[in-house]
Amino acid sequence: MYNFFVDERARVGGSFSISGKDHNHICNVLRMQIGDTFLVSCAGTSSLCRLKFIGDDALEAEIVEEDYRNTELPVRFYLFQGLPKGDKLELIIQKTVELGVAGIIPVEMSRCVMKLDDKKKKARRERWQSIAESAAKQSKRNVIPEVSDVMTYKQAMEKAAEMDLFLVPYENERGMAETREALSRMKPGMSVGILVGPEGGFDEKEIELARQAGAAVISLGKRILRAETAAVTAVGLGMLHVEMNLDGGEQ
Ligand code: SAM
Repeated sequence: MYNFFVDERARVGGSFSISGKDHNHICNVLRMQIGDTFLVSCAGTSSLCRLKFIGDDALEAEIVEEDYRNTELPVRFYLFQGLPKGDKLELIIQKTVELGVAGIIPVEMSRCVMKLDDKKKKARRERWQSIAESAAKQSKRNVIPEVSDVMTYKQAMEKAAEMDLFLVPYENERGMAETREALSRMKPGMSVGILVGPEGGFDEKEIELARQAGAAVISLGKRILRAETAAVTAVGLGMLHVEMNLDGGEQ
C-alpha cells in the first residue's frame, strides 16, 4: 500500500488535503480513482485513507482509520556516522532508515578521507535527505528521519552526551560483555546514540573523548567490519533487541 507524508497543515477535519508532487503522483502516475485507499503519515502516525475528491491542484483523502499502523521503534536510535568515502553514506542512510533509525548525523573525524566544503555539504545533505525520504516511504515508516548537518567531532560529543545511552562500536574492543550489557540498558522512550567510525576507524583521542561523553565502547564481534556493515549491524542489533524485548505491540 502506498504511503505519503504530509505536514500537519494538510489535515482538514477528518481528511487530508494533498497537493504538489504527491497530488501529481497519486492522480497522474498512479492514476488512483475515487475510493482507492493509501496511507497518509502525519506527525508520527499513519492513517488509512480513502481518495474522496480529485481537484486540479489538490485532492481530498478521507481518513478511514487513524493510527492504522505504527512501524516506529519505542527507542529512538541516532546514528552518528564518521563520513565514509564516496557514496557509502547513501547506502548507510537507506539501510538504517529501513531498520528504524530516528536520525542520522554525519560526523567529521580525524581519519575521514572525504573532506567537504560548505557548498558540497549543503548539496550532499539535500541528496542524503531525499534518500532518507525514499527509504521511509518504501519501508512504511510513520516518520521521515532527518539527516542533520555534518557535525564536528566536538559537536557530535556534545549531542551524544545528551542521549540516554551512547554506544561506540570500536574495532579494537574485544569481548561481547559490554555489548550485552549495553543492550540490557535499553528501555522504551530512550534515545540511543551510536557512533561508527569511517574506513580509517577511530584514533585513540577520539575514543577517549567518547568515553568522557559517557560512551559505552562495544564490540560487534571478532572481525573488522566495513563502516557500512558496522552501521547496519549496530542499528540492526539495537532494533532487533528492542522489537523482540521491548515492543509490546503486535507486528
Ligand atoms: N581502520 C580500522 C582497522 O583496520 O582496524 C577499521 C575501521 S572499520 C572499517 C569502520 C568502523 O566500523 C570502526 O571505526 C567501528 O566503528 C566499526 N567496526 C568495524 N568492525 C568492528 C568491530 N568488530 N567491533 C566494533 N566496531 C567495529
